[in-house]
Amino acid sequence: MRIVVVVVIVALTSCAPLMVMSEKADIAPSDARIDAVWKAVPALDGREVDVEATRREGRTMYRRVPPRVTLADIQPSPIYRGHPNKSIAALMINVAWHEERLPAMLDTLRKNRVRATFFVLGSWAHKHTASVKHIDEMGHEIGNHAYTHRNMSSLSAYAQRQEIVRTAQLLATLGVHPSPWFAPPSGDYNEETVRVAWAYGLYTVLWSVDTIDWREPKPDVLVQRVMAHIHAGALVLMHPTAAATQALPTLIDRIRARGLQLGTVSDVLSSARTDTNCGFARACATLGTREERFVKW
Ligand SMILES: [Zn+2]
Repeated sequence: MRIVVVVVIVALTSCAPLMVMSEKADIAPSDARIDAVWKAVPALDGREVDVEATRREGRTMYRRVPPRVTLADIQPSPIYRGHPNKSIAALMINVAWHEERLPAMLDTLRKNRVRATFFVLGSWAHKHTASVKHIDEMGHEIGNHAYTHRNMSSLSAYAQRQEIVRTAQLLATLGVHPSPWFAPPSGDYNEETVRVAWAYGLYTVLWSVDTIDWREPKPDVLVQRVMAHIHAGALVLMHPTAAATQALPTLIDRIRARGLQLGTVSDVLSSARTDTNCGFARACATLGTREERFVKW
């Protein structure tokens, strides 16, 4: 009898530190869902301590716990932002004109090791194929911004499909890495838009933070505006304007100082966690990963 008691105490004692660590470190996954305000909210992986790896590496290592429901499983819905518990934001740069400012923007992004998502208008991309390929080659993500910048909701389903397909085909011809994102011009869409985009394998993406850079505010006004609204999982809308180009270095610093990483729309909307060492945008990612480029950077 006494022996049994001793064995139980020894077992409890040796397990205790591990149990405490697991309780703190393990986080349950969060399923994708449709929110009344934010529409589609992406899933977020859970994590659990990988005991074997933790012992081997001598530091806490995690295993991914996948969600049961991802974006692909829910009814097609527009997306405004990433998961609110994910400490990352994306710059979504819509390009329909002002290509003369792209080199400066790209330079700032490269110097700061930031990958962004450029949503290109098809008719613009058709005239600037070298620019589109260059953006892709630099490791940024390319999204679909329709072909002619007309309001999608004013078009028939057929015309909406044409807007999306023409740009998608052009991007495929150019050989850029495909992405599943469609940003409707001026953020204008209706149910048909979401349905048509989805039928073509694309999610309709809006934004949660607007720089309103087309008004060409002073750079510090733009920075203050963004910082007043920035949040975990933010999609930050901008264009190659003078204001955004000048504000970009400060904006990157300030967003990072707020504890947020910066990545592409795929990085923000994937279910991959940013707080595990199984590798954000690597093994854990479930959407639009570009591992080889991430590692190279
Ligand atoms: Zn636009």
